[in-house]
Amino acid sequence: MTNWVYGFGGGSADGEASMKNLLGGKGANLAEMARLGLPVPPGFTITTEACVHYFSNGNTYPADLAEQVAAGLKTVEGIVGKTFGDSANPLLVSVRSGARASMPGMMDTVLNLGLNDETVEGLAKLSGDRRFAFDSYRRFITMYSNVVLGLSHDDFEEVLDDHKDRLGVTVDTDLSASDWEKVVAEYKTVVERELGRPFPQDPNEQLWGAVSAVFASWMNDRAKFYRRMHDIPESWGTAVNIQSMVFGNMGETSATGVAFTRNPSTGEAKLYGEFLINAQGEDVVAGIRTPQSLTKEGREEMGETAPSMEEAMPEVFAQFVDVVGKLESHYRDMQDIEFTVEQGRLWMLQTRNGKRTAKSALKVAVDLAAEGVISQEEAISRVEPSALDQLLHPTLDPNATRNVVAAGLPASPGAATGKICFDADEAERLNQLGDAVILVREETSPEDIHGMHAARGIVTARGGMTSHAAVVARGMGRPCVSGAGEIHIDEHAQTFTARGRTFKAGEVITIDGSKGEVLDGAVPMIEPELTGDFQTLMGWADGVRRLKVRANAETPLDAKTARGFGAEGIGLCRTEHMFFDDTRIAAVREMILADDEAGRRLALAKIEPFQKSDFVELFTIMAGLPVTVRLLDPPLHEFIPHTDEDIDALASVSGIDAAKLKRRAKELHETNPMLGHRGCRLGVAYPEIYEMQVRAVLEAALDVKKTTGTAPIPEIMHPLVALGLEMKYLRELTDRTARDVFAKAGDSVDYLVGTMIELPRAALRAGDLAEHAEFFSFGTNDLTQTTFGISRDDSGRFLQAYMDKGIFETDPFVRLDQDGVGDLIRIAAERGGAVRPDIKMGICGEHGGDPASIAFCEEVGLAYVSCSPYRVPIARLAAAQAALVSRGGEAREKDR
Ligand code: PEP
Ligand code: MG
Repeated sequence: MTNWVYGFGGGSADGEASMKNLLGGKGANLAEMARLGLPVPPGFTITTEACVHYFSNGNTYPADLAEQVAAGLKTVEGIVGKTFGDSANPLLVSVRSGARASMPGMMDTVLNLGLNDETVEGLAKLSGDRRFAFDSYRRFITMYSNVVLGLSHDDFEEVLDDHKDRLGVTVDTDLSASDWEKVVAEYKTVVERELGRPFPQDPNEQLWGAVSAVFASWMNDRAKFYRRMHDIPESWGTAVNIQSMVFGNMGETSATGVAFTRNPSTGEAKLYGEFLINAQGEDVVAGIRTPQSLTKEGREEMGETAPSMEEAMPEVFAQFVDVVGKLESHYRDMQDIEFTVEQGRLWMLQTRNGKRTAKSALKVAVDLAAEGVISQEEAISRVEPSALDQLLHPTLDPNATRNVVAAGLPASPGAATGKICFDADEAERLNQLGDAVILVREETSPEDIHGMHAARGIVTARGGMTSHAAVVARGMGRPCVSGAGEIHIDEHAQTFTARGRTFKAGEVITIDGSKGEVLDGAVPMIEPELTGDFQTLMGWADGVRRLKVRANAETPLDAKTARGFGAEGIGLCRTEHMFFDDTRIAAVREMILADDEAGRRLALAKIEPFQKSDFVELFTIMAGLPVTVRLLDPPLHEFIPHTDEDIDALASVSGIDAAKLKRRAKELHETNPMLGHRGCRLGVAYPEIYEMQVRAVLEAALDVKKTTGTAPIPEIMHPLVALGLEMKYLRELTDRTARDVFAKAGDSVDYLVGTMIELPRAALRAGDLAEHAEFFSFGTNDLTQTTFGISRDDSGRFLQAYMDKGIFETDPFVRLDQDGVGDLIRIAAERGGAVRPDIKMGICGEHGGDPASIAFCEEVGLAYVSCSPYRVPIARLAAAQAALVSRGGEAREKDR
């Protein structure tokens, strides 16, 4: 018999922390907390396997699930001494999702389940608080109707607002028991009116409705989007946690809150969090009321007047501090905790490793290693490489003039400038058009997640440091100012007003997420300083990684940035990028459009000095490090002027007859240029082009050697090679030209000649290529294109459909297809290595900066990865993590 249900509570549990895959993160940690003897409301978890079964069997439950759930409920009833559905002594439960990886706010939750017209009376008697009972009932009806029955929150909010208006009150806590009773009655009418049937009164029907709604929420759009963004496979499914309710809304000695054992923005080792007296959990996260700080120090720092938990409930607070300390030591990581105080009694509702900014992740990892809680190696593996991206981007220049238009909370650090936008869809649309936008919202909800992703930064008028906007923005690395209460948004007019000024959609503002300020206009920014914890951790990472990290760069600025970020050379200098410069493009076009060798040579002579001086700069910046120069590669049409106007302009600068140019342009037209006259096919057809480039590289190297005393290490790379004989021809061309250059100069430098592996045939016949090539660089952009037969330029039109249907889990142009393209790389590495054992191999496609693809490169044993300059630190860390994983694997092999 399969166990679909795992119980916890009353000091023991069927599960434990290590069972995340089966119980989800929340369920596994609830079990672990119960085992640790911490106060956890008893409950049980329906496994992720049950969810998987549900989806793979046409949305039906396993046959024995109902029986196991009934038994689970019985156990809970036994522990708490209440009965589900009993009108005198009712057990109420919460029903929450909980996947393997935490997906905050993405899936659904129902609280106070089990309430109906009878049990609400029981709850009122039992608690001696009729107001509380009906407040809970109306919360339940709203949540259940929304999550399970698919009704809109607005239907209920309207009723509530009408009531408040009639009574002349503004906050919910001003409503009395009889007010809530009336609200409940009207809510039920709303349900009946909308659905044509009454609100379900049977607690069992409610329970199963909620379970299937939680399962279904695994497939909602926002969960799908979140999974795509965080690489969470759809096949995992979610668990469902059913847990006896504890109430933070039972008066002034009750409260609910969230806490981090360290600061999730800065990493500072201080308890950090918020709570609300007389409230339920959803109130804190939803940002409906402004929460208070947990600690006195926190309250003072935020300049709040409402008492902190430390001051308002000193005894429970002391117990809480003790419990969270135990949790952090037990899990050996910063914890993100949800708790409730019910009439002076503390209950723990959740603990998990806290989401944090990159800055915080670095500090927490380095601090924990310094505290001796974790090893340096563990610290390395604790920081997600792609999160470093947040640190590598600019912050506001401290000397810039700051025209503050509104202040709020420093919810997620960093700075961003962009056009004001009030709508998530619009933010996404503008982003696609290349506009930088700042999303400005009253508050955000999970429906806005795509807009938050598309925006450079986020501002909300409401909500605290743990509001949806704050949590999600920190996770995404977007700067965010939350709770900027001075901002009054008029969505209809598409404006916001603050401090007497009105800003329209499209106007430019800047936000400082580290300070919590919204500023007028575009404010100057400065490059980040990569010192302190960053440097410490990267130092540790460099100490363990095997893969070298190079950069793809051709401009001096990129090369300098790359070196500053720790690049160990250039893995790909795309020489054609040097051709697009305004001062050169005319000569390049002249070369391409020339109809004989003499014409080409004339134009090439104009280009050569530019090429040479570019290489001198690159070699100087990369002194002592290898620089891979790739010879001309792109399809020629990319250089050709297409309009008559452009051709006429070229005719006038080059002195070539316009009609002749037009004829030549037509001749050069290709139906499928990506598979046409490009790559080394240019060098084979027009050897004078490659000869010029080789000369420029080697003469530049000789110059730099002479002036600096350090000989550069050029690696000359031929693109899009498919055949051994092609490589032989190109090798001979390169060596012949080199001999010429060296003879003329009376001096020489060492250089390597190699090829890119970008075609399946090149991979399969790598042995033939290795006869003549001293290195291979896997051009996985083209190799992916040519292996799949999917155009890298046009794939955007249909890839999304493939991802939506789960045919592709990720875009193969972003994450290496390890099965197919990866197989070709393995074959090439093996066959190339068999012919030339010391052949040097690396990767220079976009995948070189993707952590999962880097792990693959480690596995295959490549020598280096090469990526864009801003990804160099990410690659350094990812390479270290990959090395640790492979060493772990080796250690396990040895143990066997
Ligand atoms: C590649 O194809 O992977 C590559 C690096 O070359 P390019 O992107 O310039 O075609
Ligand atoms: Mg390529």
